[in-house]
Amino acid sequence: MLGATGVEAAPLTACPTDASAPAETPLVRLSTEAGPAYGSMQYAHQAVGLKPRQVALTFDDGPDPATTPSILAILKKHCIKATYFLVGIYAEKRPDLVRAIAAQGHIIGTHSYTHPNLRRLSTSRAHREIRKGFEAAQAALASAPPEDRARLAPFFRFPGLNDKKSLIRWLGERNVATISCDFGADDWKHISADQVYQRALRNINSRGQGIIILHDTKPHTADMLERLIMRMRQQGYEFVQLAPDAHARRLATQVPGALLDAVPVTAGLRPSQTAEVKIPSLEPAKPIR
Ligand SMILES: [Zn+2]
Repeated sequence: MLGATGVEAAPLTACPTDASAPAETPLVRLSTEAGPAYGSMQYAHQAVGLKPRQVALTFDDGPDPATTPSILAILKKHCIKATYFLVGIYAEKRPDLVRAIAAQGHIIGTHSYTHPNLRRLSTSRAHREIRKGFEAAQAALASAPPEDRARLAPFFRFPGLNDKKSLIRWLGERNVATISCDFGADDWKHISADQVYQRALRNINSRGQGIIILHDTKPHTADMLERLIMRMRQQGYEFVQLAPDAHARRLATQVPGALLDAVPVTAGLRPSQTAEVKIPSLEPAKPIR
């Protein structure tokens, strides 16, 4: 393990609406300094430090008024906090949903402005896509309380996972981490909720831990999510939440061409609820492609 991250222990109180679950989701703090790229599907050597049977839920492409609220309700019922990668144009359309995501304690990263294949764009257009994605998420949260604004992380996920070395480097110069995944559930395909459920479970069980990529824009994902959560808990899995380390937002704002603005220093992630684990900084990861 490369030691880039630490999993924080959560208090052992029970979830009020799911007696089988803990009230809190342990945080996995990721260093964003110099823009590491995480997720074994693309960056095999960059471990995020999950233990066996720990799974981090991530949701891409929202917010979507048809499905995001029901997924938020399921996560709330089962006391699970996740990490979202929002698309800028949808954040602009439904800033209330962006605020709802943050208010529920989820971490927000971005996923570009219009979800293009960034490999196919000119450098300047790709930069603009990434920048406008952050601006849209930030604008949606502008009226939110500081602790919710602080949940916008210097995390970026490439649309379609179509990364590019030069863009990872550009993000890294701005202290923004690239977050890929360890596996998905094919929920972007035209398959049934049951097939999404089966594929999610198969991938989770074959790896035993990891970051799963799902889409909160898909009805079949909303349809199977509660069943998946309950089955995973029966099988002894623990949900953890990918979150930036304590320095991330400051580092991302103190660079030329920063993609994020500062939030008030009084704002922090769950300041009184979890003890922080010290995380050593790390050289930026080299992408495999
Ligand atoms: Zn996407």
